[in-house]
Amino acid sequence: MIITFQTDASETQARAAASEAERSGLKAYVRFSGGRWAVAIVGAGRVRPGGADRLNERLAALPGVASITADQQAFVLASRAFVPETTSFSLSDTPDGVRVGGSRLLLIAGPCSVEDRSQLLETALAVKEAGAHALRGGAFKPRTSPYSFQGLGEAGLEMLAEARQLTGLPIVTEVMTPEDLPLVARYADVLQIGARNMQNSPLLHAAGASQKPVLLKRGMSATLEEMLFAAEYILSHDNFRVMVCERGIRTFENSLTRNTTDINAVPVLKSISHLPVMLDPSHSTGSWEYVTAIARAAVAAGADGLIVEVHPHPEQALSDGAQSLKPERFAELVRQVSGIANWMERTV
Ligand code: PEP
Ligand code: MN
Repeated sequence: MIITFQTDASETQARAAASEAERSGLKAYVRFSGGRWAVAIVGAGRVRPGGADRLNERLAALPGVASITADQQAFVLASRAFVPETTSFSLSDTPDGVRVGGSRLLLIAGPCSVEDRSQLLETALAVKEAGAHALRGGAFKPRTSPYSFQGLGEAGLEMLAEARQLTGLPIVTEVMTPEDLPLVARYADVLQIGARNMQNSPLLHAAGASQKPVLLKRGMSATLEEMLFAAEYILSHDNFRVMVCERGIRTFENSLTRNTTDINAVPVLKSISHLPVMLDPSHSTGSWEYVTAIARAAVAAGADGLIVEVHPHPEQALSDGAQSLKPERFAELVRQVSGIANWMERTV
């Protein structure tokens, strides 16, 4: 249920509605966006059908209330109905840090996996030079085969921290289990939740509770609605620093590309949700040749940023070499994307 308030209503009036709902055993979230207060009320699943009717009446009678919409099936906290303006946030704990969700695109780049110190530092310096705003690199890798490189674990996180020290770039790195989360959160600026874990609810709860920014990737066979429900788990901890990421989905087309970029995802997500929308053209194509074209398409479609795999020697990469750009190709991607961004009245 979403209660919106008249534009001249006060925060106190919104909080009074939240308290009224909480007295009925529900949970309420209060946000100011689009020039008005709104209260989202969730947890109706615990209330028997019809049991909240009296609450609806009490809420409708409160001063300042403009409208009440009840749709028990829909995601609520992630919706634009609740928060009309795109959520913009800093990736670090200082408000002047690198941001996502504003007019400036967020460019995250780096290797698929942290392989060794020199590979990571060389890549970090190169992507920074090319214009990236944040560094990616996996230390805990969710691989299809148990015999593939699984990542360096904490040693990889230490290398990421050194790369941040060297370049000033915030770090985006994947966390695979709730148990690993405290360790990863000590090093990461942004927790990445990968496609294979998009519906791992204990991990989503732990990421929410951590209050760290989260990059949530779409499951390879997940609908957009399922992704927003996954985001809802994180938001339910009052952690609104969440960006969602299209990374390609499974379709019958797999002869020349690893996945199919669902470019529809960008405008659809932008329309129904306030969360910043990222696109990963590396995993969505699986081939470096197509990465730059799909990056351009993403920005033209309205994405808030890109996450791109870059490796100084892709042919030697321990994971995802085929889809990794060489640094000079990434620099060219940034140049091309800047042109599209200008045309979209955005910057990089
Ligand atoms: C990755 O970013 O390297 C990765 C494993 O991505 P995904 O979860 O989208 O497959
Ligand atoms: Mn990868």
